[in-house]
Amino acid sequence: MKIIVYGVRDDEKPFLEEWESNNQDVDVQIESVLLDVVSVSKAEGFDGVVAFQQAPYTAEVLDRLGAFGVKVLSLRNVGVDNVDFPAANRNNIKVTNVPAYSPQAIAEFTVTQLMQLLRNTKVFNHKIANGDLRWAPDIATELNQLTVGVFATGRIGRAAIQIYKGFGAKVIAYDIFKNPELDKEGIYVDTPEELYRQSDVISLHAPAVEENEHMLNDQTFAQMKDGVIILNPARGTLIDTDALIKALDSGKVGGAALDVYEDEVGVFNEDFGSFDAIPDERVKNLLKRDNVLVTPHIAFYTKTAVKSMVNTSLDANRDVIATGDSDKIVKK
Ligand code: NAD
Repeated sequence: MKIIVYGVRDDEKPFLEEWESNNQDVDVQIESVLLDVVSVSKAEGFDGVVAFQQAPYTAEVLDRLGAFGVKVLSLRNVGVDNVDFPAANRNNIKVTNVPAYSPQAIAEFTVTQLMQLLRNTKVFNHKIANGDLRWAPDIATELNQLTVGVFATGRIGRAAIQIYKGFGAKVIAYDIFKNPELDKEGIYVDTPEELYRQSDVISLHAPAVEENEHMLNDQTFAQMKDGVIILNPARGTLIDTDALIKALDSGKVGGAALDVYEDEVGVFNEDFGSFDAIPDERVKNLLKRDNVLVTPHIAFYTKTAVKSMVNTSLDANRDVIATGDSDKIVKK
């Protein structure tokens, strides 16, 4: 059995090598290039392809893979929006994903960022760098005094709720589907508006779907408490960035931690050499603010999660080649 793995980063290599040593009957070829119309030729003679990229898996690429007899394309991430499913289906190429690699990684990061905002860490870092070791006026707020509104109680939202509760915060939540266990605890509110109205902190954990594009906008910010803190480790499109900047300017929003941004492709996970060279004025505007933390989609980026992405995708690829089936197959 032969599997080719595209877009491999250095931090993934030890996990890939470990997987290969535990699967001696599988021949694994590692490639750093992404899968595209040129690099696809490397897949000739392989049974399975494993990949991880934001760039699309086009019909042209999938037709070539089909002609090579590739049986399965396994993504090392959750999202499958960039796969041309009609092309995969007509070439009998099964597509698998990694539905959850470490919800705790994202939950821990979200709360870490909130704590930094509450304790004014960015402000103190600047003051200390300038030799100003005074306390005032940057007095902090304790999380145990606050109400956290968790928007969407899937795997990550639920992991975040556990941590918020550990800090002693009051947690309320909204989801279109109520989790039965959480429902028994009575934490759900019935509408997003109710969540906005009651929360000191809003922690977003919903996927990007059409209904929630720019769900945080001028109108919804107006429904929130003055000085509300917004945490978005989910998807950039949930927030209208221009509306957020206005709400930060007016003080309506008192702080924000953004690990995602609606125009992040081509900006996040790139090295521009200097702050000024970052080619996005809104990101620079946000980064300059002491009450805003922008991070380049790193919430997931832990050893535990990367190992899980590698192992789950390769296990699924191997299983589909061997048996035609895997519980990680995504049907569309
Ligand atoms: P999940 O599928 O376990 O849960 C999603 C939840 O959202 C479900 O409970 C669902 O009912 C709810 N939901 C869907 N549409 C909704 C809507 N319109 N309004 C309210 N609730 C809605 O997903 P998860 O594993 O918890 O991941 C949540 C999101 O986190 C992902 O979709 C992704 O956008 C994001 N994510 C970010 C990173 C990162 O590194 N920053 C990594 C992984 C995932």
